[in-house]
Amino acid sequence: MLTKQKCSTAKCNMQTFYVSSLNGRCFCVDCFKAFFIKRISQTITSKKMFSPNDRIMVAVSGGADSVCLLHSLKIIEKRFPKVELIAVTIDEGIAGYREGALELAKLNAERSGVEFAVYSLKELYGVSLDELISKTEKVNGALKACSLCGVLRRKAINTAARELGADRVATGHNLDDETQTILLNLLRGDINHLTRFNSTIRKHKQLIPRVKPLERVPEPEISLYLYINDIPYHNVHCPYAESAMRTDVRNFLYQQENKHPGTLYGIQNAFKRIQESLQKNIESKGIRLCQICSEPSVNEICKACMILETVIDDKV
Ligand SMILES: [Zn+2]
Ligand SMILES: [Zn+2]
Repeated sequence: MLTKQKCSTAKCNMQTFYVSSLNGRCFCVDCFKAFFIKRISQTITSKKMFSPNDRIMVAVSGGADSVCLLHSLKIIEKRFPKVELIAVTIDEGIAGYREGALELAKLNAERSGVEFAVYSLKELYGVSLDELISKTEKVNGALKACSLCGVLRRKAINTAARELGADRVATGHNLDDETQTILLNLLRGDINHLTRFNSTIRKHKQLIPRVKPLERVPEPEISLYLYINDIPYHNVHCPYAESAMRTDVRNFLYQQENKHPGTLYGIQNAFKRIQESLQKNIESKGIRLCQICSEPSVNEICKACMILETVIDDKV
């Protein structure tokens, strides 16, 4: 996006390559990089996401967001010499998809000089996502791949974080993901999901708090950042991605943001205030240990065990 304008940063005379639609600010390449990292730093500080000697597990799928998160945290980490980063990929077992993503996750961890580990659903639960989906299709076709994967992956991430001695888990969710989720939950009337949000408060000793340092970063700026830094990432859609409703919501929000820049921040800011009052409810609800696997859960039996039990019990 080359224009003849100069960068808006004081004393910078470089040529603009990107103009923010939010406020018309012009950026040269270097000032954009600096701004990008500074905004993430500010999110981390304002939400007290990390402590100066945390061991932080970065959930890296190999896709744009998580790879960008890893590189950004590596830059920010330089100011906090006692912080340790570990990159972890959850291998769901999706043939023809995960292999490529895994390679890119590993490559980025190596380039950043970050310890890397892989946890597979097959090893943890004895069943890969491919196998689980083919089994559940026989049991009942209604269970959606994304919800199965989401539940098992969340549990796997927590197990990995605990085993690796992490104090925090950082995930790559960006501003667009966050606002889509807010709207989706509202459209579905899903109050339980509305109340589930990240907090650095440790709700249970076995539950490692999860944070989203990119939650204020718009998706297009992530692509831009990766492009100008020449960072490779896995740019293939998951073969099971199926949520038609999320696609509708994404398109709707994209149009609104284009027409009315600032819409996404508006939704996120409004929702933050609603969540603050909802948080009080969920904290009083408490977290117990699943009767089957002894992992933290809000119910007697955790969702992951419910899924696995359904498949194993039904002798198909
Ligand atoms: Zn500049
Ligand atoms: Zn369980």
